[in-house]
Amino acid sequence: MSQDLGILPEKVISLLRGVGLILLLVLVLSGRGKKLPTVQIDHSISAQIPEDEFVYELKTNQTLGDLFNKFLDPNDQDALLSQLRAHIDPRRVREGTTVTVRTVRGDVKGPKSVEVTLNADQTVRLVSLSESWSSQLISTPTTVDTIWASGEIKSSLWNALLENSHLSEVNPTDREKLVLELNDVFKWQVDFVRQIQSGDSYRFAFEREVRTGGTMRTGHVLAAELVNRDRSYTALWFDPNEDGAGTYYDLDGKSVKGAFLLSPIELRHRISSRFTSGRFHPILKRWRAHRGVDYAAPTGTPVQSTGNGVVVHRARGSTYGNRIDIQHPNGWTTRYAHMNNFSAEITVGSRIKQGDVIGYVGMTGLATGPHLHYEMLLHGSHEDPLGIDLPSGDPIPEDQWEMWQLQSSRRVAFLDKLVSGPMSSEQSEIIKEPSNPGVR
Ligand SMILES: [Zn+2]
Repeated sequence: MSQDLGILPEKVISLLRGVGLILLLVLVLSGRGKKLPTVQIDHSISAQIPEDEFVYELKTNQTLGDLFNKFLDPNDQDALLSQLRAHIDPRRVREGTTVTVRTVRGDVKGPKSVEVTLNADQTVRLVSLSESWSSQLISTPTTVDTIWASGEIKSSLWNALLENSHLSEVNPTDREKLVLELNDVFKWQVDFVRQIQSGDSYRFAFEREVRTGGTMRTGHVLAAELVNRDRSYTALWFDPNEDGAGTYYDLDGKSVKGAFLLSPIELRHRISSRFTSGRFHPILKRWRAHRGVDYAAPTGTPVQSTGNGVVVHRARGSTYGNRIDIQHPNGWTTRYAHMNNFSAEITVGSRIKQGDVIGYVGMTGLATGPHLHYEMLLHGSHEDPLGIDLPSGDPIPEDQWEMWQLQSSRRVAFLDKLVSGPMSSEQSEIIKEPSNPGVR
């Protein structure tokens, strides 16, 4: 049995993706009822010289030299190792590495080829020439497929995907990646920890590149919808240059990526005090307004900037304690107070990207316990961070609108295929797209 490895250059992968999309569309249009056809992977059939294959696994304290001694004379071995050195230091090849040796059937003169598997994605193939060896770095063959799934959420999205029996072909690690990807897509709209409730539902199409062994190499959400508390959030992948540098937009072509994150610290932390126009201050012992939101979190919890901007204040005050103010586009300012300390590299004037860690939770200034006090100001006046409709990111550029309409209608077709009945995990499906048989 020979398991040939082939080269799959980037261009071919992107071509396959293109072909795959059209194929999927054809499948969508020709599909009858809920059941979608599963396409088999075509393997190329070609005449090959009969050969014997021996697969070795490097044992503890065994070197490649020890292994090569079995079938190569010293000269041949030196020639092979010098070729291998172009790709890897043979002394650093670890225990467990797979080495595949092929010989012409019945020929005892020596191997025809040797393959050393470097990692899940790369193998060095060495081929015996009359006087020497040639070497080539080969990418593990992959195929592209798309996972379609829909279902109801009872407790969390993670559990919902875990309980979806149709996704059993996707291993748990890859399912976890899938949840994280969906979480990433919707994190500006939905607080996955606090807002998800029983009865919410999901549907998505997820394109992935899968190795022959079934593990995922890369993958991303093509289209997804999350229905949270009867409100629908849709995200469609748009990649105008087909170079992987795309982003997600809603049905109207507005970026789903908000100008501001929902929270300056990880969402699992508790809101301990909300925005009010008046509350009794426990230390000052008098009524005063609370013009921000408090998040109770252990000292040292990272605090992230909720948007892109420039640091305009970084100092310790008697009330706010260690405080940072960041100025954002369109008149917005965010404020982070009572921090234990600041991130070392942050100074006034620092340019900050959304999600950058600017400091750590503490209880400096007037605070009874470790928490982050967070404020949002628009043109200098306080807004309730939990009450405003956070402004979204940039919409589709005008010159890409036509391309967007074409791509988005395909993506919506994926989703619509999944909504042809009541939401149920029965509708999950994995579509396997055949890769070009000539290029494995
Ligand atoms: Zn506060």
